[in-house]
Amino acid sequence: MNITFYGAAQNVTGSKHLIDVNGYKILLDCGLHQGRRAEATALNSHLPFPAKDIDAVILSHGHADHCGTLPLLVKEGFKGKIYATPATIDVATYILKDSAKIQEQDTNYYNDHLRLNEEPAEPLYTTDDVETMLPHFAPTPYFWHSKQWTKLTDNIRFKLYDAGHILGSSIIVLEITEQGKVKTLAFTGDIGHKDTPLLRDPETILEPVDILISECTYGNRIHTSIDEAKERLVSVITKAFTNRSKIIVPSFSLGRTQELIYILHQLTDSGRIPRLPIYIDSPLAANIAEVFIKHSEEYNEATWKDFSTPGEAPLAFRNLIYTHSVEDSKRLNTLSGPFMIISASGMCEGGRVLHHLKNNIADEHAIIMFTGYQAEGTLGRKIIEGQNPVRILGEEYQVHAQVVKFNEFSAHADQAQLLEYISSLKSLKEVFLVHTETEQATAFAPLLKERLPSTEIFVPKYGDTFEL
Ligand SMILES: [Zn+2]
Repeated sequence: MNITFYGAAQNVTGSKHLIDVNGYKILLDCGLHQGRRAEATALNSHLPFPAKDIDAVILSHGHADHCGTLPLLVKEGFKGKIYATPATIDVATYILKDSAKIQEQDTNYYNDHLRLNEEPAEPLYTTDDVETMLPHFAPTPYFWHSKQWTKLTDNIRFKLYDAGHILGSSIIVLEITEQGKVKTLAFTGDIGHKDTPLLRDPETILEPVDILISECTYGNRIHTSIDEAKERLVSVITKAFTNRSKIIVPSFSLGRTQELIYILHQLTDSGRIPRLPIYIDSPLAANIAEVFIKHSEEYNEATWKDFSTPGEAPLAFRNLIYTHSVEDSKRLNTLSGPFMIISASGMCEGGRVLHHLKNNIADEHAIIMFTGYQAEGTLGRKIIEGQNPVRILGEEYQVHAQVVKFNEFSAHADQAQLLEYISSLKSLKEVFLVHTETEQATAFAPLLKERLPSTEIFVPKYGDTFEL
């Protein structure tokens, strides 16, 4: 068998890994490339392999950089099943419908503001394409729940462990028999941060693993503790309250938004922060909050207890306001601070957050608060790196707002947790580090080699194929 890396290879988006077992082709994830617009558009516009040749897809979780090109896969001729946990299917359904809508809106906005000689753009896929794709989903519960492997062929079966990254996220373990020899290949997907509010800790893989494909997003970073982050958050919010600032939080609608809401709820209830109005300006986040309620069996126990206390729920409390319509969203521009707006997309690559940034980035009293990883080439990355001015929706803006960044609310394991997780696996022969930029991988690989001297470690490039 062999494996080819078609994304999240020396970068953190576009996750797509193709395993070929004697002609049977399994695609792990089918994610959207994000980042430099022209480059991402070119990479996303067509899949790098014939879609009709793929026999099965196993999806690790519902973030767009892991599931965002599934509608394109079906549009280009894929006929098989897309295996994922029931929660991932619900999450991905919302994410993909939202992605189609954002692409349609952004395309319209772009086409309405065309300059001379600029060609009109087309969305990558539409809401109809998403609807056509949905019947391909095959709900596959976590192994702890079903106690069953899922058979793909007589020689290939797989199971899903909880990755603790976002609701429904999984670690995929494949068992492949070739010429009487059994090999185990595991793919971490994105692996969670231990002790994350709401989610369970990542599960340990019980079987010996021969080949591991591991994410390495924060391979060069140790997160400070969540308690220190909470203290910083208290000081940012208290200051904002005094200065009547608007706080703009670009956030994935999924994962960090819910964790941040959960923490803000705790801090408000304990009187650590004033009752600041918090607008969740994302219809998607409101939908995802419902997915959380539907899949409450997947929370950790502490959160479950929070839910069963009478009165407010972790994701719904008095000063939290979900805005649904575009009109409600626009009305936020006319309000004066202090308040917080949490809005997608997390890397400022699209969605309503762009309009809030446009309206506030030049205001010295405003605060832009990042809570997640900002990939190279994204607007979010440019802002945290201090680029000034920046281009938003085709116009230049001066950055006068204060920019703050929290890595601690990350949904990813840090260097120490990754090292601990990978080196706890038995009999590892090969490790492929993906979902990582070269700087992170270069820092991480030698540390891992120290722990696992007889394991080969690779950092594949886009399009690299390895015989396994
Ligand atoms: Zn993710």
